[in-house]
Amino acid sequence: MKSMLSVELADRVKNLPPYLFAAIDRMKQEAIARGVDLIDLSIGDPDIPTPKRIVDAMKRAVENPAHHRYPSYEGMLSYREAVVRWYRRRFNVTLDPKTEVLSLIGSKEGIGHIPLAFINPCDVVLVPSPGYPVYPVGTLLAGGESCIMPLREENGFLPDFKAIPEDTFMKAKLMFINYPNNPTSVTAPRKFYDEVINIALKYNIIVCHDAAYSEIYYDDERPMSFLEIEGAKDVGIEFHSLSKTYNMTGWRIGFAVGNKDVIAGLGKIKTNLDSGVFQAIQEASIVALDIEDDVLSGIRRIYQERRDFLYNGLKELGLHLIKPKATFYLWTKVPSGFDSSSFVAHLLDRAGVLATPGNGFGAPGEGYVRFALTVPVQRMREAVNRIKNVL
Ligand SMILES: *Cc1c(COP(=O)(O)O)cnc(C)c1O
Repeated sequence: MKSMLSVELADRVKNLPPYLFAAIDRMKQEAIARGVDLIDLSIGDPDIPTPKRIVDAMKRAVENPAHHRYPSYEGMLSYREAVVRWYRRRFNVTLDPKTEVLSLIGSKEGIGHIPLAFINPCDVVLVPSPGYPVYPVGTLLAGGESCIMPLREENGFLPDFKAIPEDTFMKAKLMFINYPNNPTSVTAPRKFYDEVINIALKYNIIVCHDAAYSEIYYDDERPMSFLEIEGAKDVGIEFHSLSKTYNMTGWRIGFAVGNKDVIAGLGKIKTNLDSGVFQAIQEASIVALDIEDDVLSGIRRIYQERRDFLYNGLKELGLHLIKPKATFYLWTKVPSGFDSSSFVAHLLDRAGVLATPGNGFGAPGEGYVRFALTVPVQRMREAVNRIKNVL
């Protein structure tokens, strides 16, 4: 007799929200199978390769047997010191490499794990919506409850704290914020961060600012770091990543900086779950962080040309778009008669252009789609021409 195991998922996995992009993935595969010349503007992953200097540093580092052993949990001190130099140069923020910096296996890893360090069952986590899905998912896996902070166009896609009930703030232990914002492409003004710090102190809420896109900005308007604001280090940390800044999404390296007790809490989870970042990648990342700004401005020039082209092209077709201040996304209202999903399906079926439906980032994203600037201008020109014919 063949015995069969009955495999049943844990409740916390069963309770994960449905993967809203699954239908799109299926449609994409079907279009490709039909032989459609697909222009994929749904991918939040740079098409530009990692700068050569970083790749060369990796090649050298990988030969060194010292790097073949387990890395240190919190990151090599030399990597953390490079992070400190980068923060000072870019934001004029001073950090202690020993207590205020932690290496991450990509910032997603830290964002996903941090609720485990601070959230007890039924504790509330404030999460922006539309937003990066890892904020509510990490919360759920830790047994916490997400309370969404809707990001609406009339508020400049900033949370409206006045609309959040007092008792929600009282139950909240942690708040995620993310500027420059994925998917809406806006940045936050200084006074917003002041407000966040006041709320955090009043209700004892840990602030986790996701700054993954701080270096992908337009018109020479540099976004700020949360840690530039006086008092920020008393209430929270900032997550950062080399993924978007240096076109290193595949390398898996990032870092968290800021409040030393919060850093220590996250570090404690990590020492029990992972064994750090491959040291050769850390060596290459030191080279990346010390690169002078000409490399980054070269990358920004590419995105600026793309942003200007696609923004103007789609605007001329009569679409209502948010002009990106930063990030490589174009947040676009769907024309009347459509919702997020039906407009994405329409563009895919009729024009062979793939966008991301805004409702995939949370219910307040309904009525929008996101175009990513991760293809060359020449392909964008083709996309605009095709979209023109189906509007
Ligand atoms: C891409 C992205 C990240 C993280 O990327 P990693 O590759 O894990 O460092 C974090 N937050 C947002 C909003 C992102 O879009």
